[in-house]
Amino acid sequence: MDQIQIGKFIAACRKEKGMTQAQLAEKMGISDRAVSKWETGKNMPDSSIMLELCDELGITVNDLLNGRRIAMENYKEIAEKTILEMQNAKEQNDKLLLLTEIVISIPSVLIMLILCMVAAYAQIPEWVRIVLIAVGVIQLIPCVLVSLGIEQRAGYYMCKKCGHRWVPAYAQVFFAPHFGRTRKMTCPYCGKRCYHKKVIKK
Ligand SMILES: [Zn+2]
Repeated sequence: MDQIQIGKFIAACRKEKGMTQAQLAEKMGISDRAVSKWETGKNMPDSSIMLELCDELGITVNDLLNGRRIAMENYKEIAEKTILEMQNAKEQNDKLLLLTEIVISIPSVLIMLILCMVAAYAQIPEWVRIVLIAVGVIQLIPCVLVSLGIEQRAGYYMCKKCGHRWVPAYAQVFFAPHFGRTRKMTCPYCGKRCYHKKVIKK
C-alpha cells in the first residue's frame, strides 16, 4: 500500500466533492489536522472510520486502499490482492511488535536482576534489602502487562493438538502457564487444554 498515493487520492476526491479539509473534518467529527495527515500520507484513516470516509468521498474501501478508482471488471482481482497486501502488512507489524516486546523487557529485567543482586550481596540493613527487592518487582509489573498485551495481539497462538490458530483474550494469556511464548490454554476449536505456540501467519 502506498500511503502517499492514498493521501493524494483522498485529497483529489475531497476536491471533486467541493469540500475543504475543514468541511470534511467537520462532517466526520474529527480534527482537520487528521485529514491533513491522511492527505500528506503521514497517517492512514483508522479502520473504524474508513467506511464513513469512503461514503463522504463517494468511493469504495477497495478504491481507497489502492489510491485510485478501480474499474468494475478487475474489482475482485484487485480486492484479493489488497487483502493479501494487508495481511502481509499485519505480519510485518506483528513481527515488529514482538521484537518491541523483547526490547522493552530487557532493561526492566536487568534492573530487577541488579537490584536483587545488590539486595543479596551488599552489606546493607535488612529493610533496605526488602525495599530494593520490592522496587525491583514493582518496576517490572507495567513492563509485564504491556508485554502480555503485545503478545496477545501480535500474531496467533497455534493449538498443538489440532493446529487451529486463534487470538485469545488478554485474561487467557495472563493466567496461562508458559515457557517463553508457548502457553498452555484451552483451544476453542478442539476443546483440548494443551500448549500453544506463538505464530505470525494465520
Ligand atoms: Zn485445538
